Amino acid sequence: MAVSEAQLQAIVSAVVAQMKSEETAPKAQLGIFNDMNTAIAAAKDAQKIMQRMPMDMREKIISKIRQLTKENAEILAKMAVEETGMGNVGDKILKHQLLAEKTPGTEDITTTAWSGDRGLTLIEMGPFGVIGAICPCTNPSETVLCNAIGMLAGGNTVVFCPHPQAIKTSLYAVDLINQASISAGGPCNVAVALANPTMESSNIMMKHPDIPLIAATGGPGVVTAVLSSGKRGIGAGAGNPPALVDETADIRKAARDIVNGCTFDNNLPCIAEKEVVCVDSVCDELIHWMLEENDCYMASPEEQQKLIDTVLAGGRLNRKCVGRSARAILSMIGVNAPENIRCIIFEGEKEHKLIAEELMMPILGIVRAKDIDDAIEKAVWLEHGCRHSAHMHSKNVENLTRFGQAIDTAIFVKNAPSYAALGFGGEGFCTFTIASRTGEGLTSASTFTKRRRCVMSDSLCIR
Ligand code: NAD
Repeated sequence: MAVSEAQLQAIVSAVVAQMKSEETAPKAQLGIFNDMNTAIAAAKDAQKIMQRMPMDMREKIISKIRQLTKENAEILAKMAVEETGMGNVGDKILKHQLLAEKTPGTEDITTTAWSGDRGLTLIEMGPFGVIGAICPCTNPSETVLCNAIGMLAGGNTVVFCPHPQAIKTSLYAVDLINQASISAGGPCNVAVALANPTMESSNIMMKHPDIPLIAATGGPGVVTAVLSSGKRGIGAGAGNPPALVDETADIRKAARDIVNGCTFDNNLPCIAEKEVVCVDSVCDELIHWMLEENDCYMASPEEQQKLIDTVLAGGRLNRKCVGRSARAILSMIGVNAPENIRCIIFEGEKEHKLIAEELMMPILGIVRAKDIDDAIEKAVWLEHGCRHSAHMHSKNVENLTRFGQAIDTAIFVKNAPSYAALGFGGEGFCTFTIASRTGEGLTSASTFTKRRRCVMSDSLCIR
């Protein structure tokens, strides 16, 4: 049967329309599932391939993750600010660049060997399998990408449970990880997540027989839930890091470092300065430099009360204030602050509600101490035994040592902003999962491996 010109035209139009709709339709994201059991099964299949892969191949995947993270840093930063309403784009871009460059890869997987008269013994680091990773909304894609680099370097695959407030950003990062794996010749589903994660789906993950290890990065609730799951848990929980200043410090620099650390990404990092304890003899000078050179706003007693009523409305942390800028928070209490303002300060006792609570916003209470002994006691009290992070500005080695020993935290930064602990303006590698509760400290690829002893008796010692 002959096709008329009109019919031919209609077919061509239909094909062109179909091609256009395929071009414009959103591409399905890789590694995203609707059911937790299916997601874990897919990650398990991918892990079997990962485990057989040469180290070199794992490193190629990780290099590609680094590259895609850098290329997508701005997109991810904007997406996270838009989705969560927290933090600021500029600092989030820096966080992505930092993790791409300084998160350890396969070089962190090492072998220990003993060779002697009775042969050769090795300790090798092997994968756990499929790791469950619960991530916070404060650093959503940073945690997903940083965890993925370390976990894949160890030969694992990972099922992510993102925070419901940061799903879009987290799933975008999961997709990037799978794109990286495929383009480097690896399998898909090295990282998986659900399109609509819920508390229930997290609970399924926590009880699943194919999940031998769970890394929980978040507040006290989730860490306690994971540590009660009966599985091995890495607990990266909350902190309330004090910055202690003694009379020997360079006070002008201390003011600058503290405000820079406190305001980075609007105070979202768990390591950021949450309050200051300063010895009385230099406290006025510290406040002077904070106001004079570091864009701080001194809140009056009435404004402090309004802040309490707003950011701790009903006695609970108001999540609408978390990670907001100082000006945004001030506008919520009716203060129209100048454009340069980036930190709200005030003086108070350690029990002051805005000082004792972990707020995650640029509100920085200053507690006056009569001397170093009093300062150490107050700062230790304020850290609430989280053993997370603490900072100090001092040139007195004895004072630094005493505070470090008394506070006993996973991170202790001296004479620098808190972010030096993440390798930003300080030595060392980067991580966004600081296992304060369970003691692994700053996690890296080796944290996500099992130690195995491999013994060859009376052989292979060639001496
Ligand atoms: P959050 O505790 O509200 O949520 C963290 C994650 O846990 C989310 O994915 C959430 O859905 C999940 N979750 C919460 N309760 C749960 C439960 N009972 N069972 C299963 N899953 C649960 O924390 P957030 O607001 O997203 O992040 C901020 C908190 O995380 C702060 O306390 C901060 O100090 C802490 N944090 C710690 C680290 C660290 O490395 N130690 C890093 C980032 C954030």
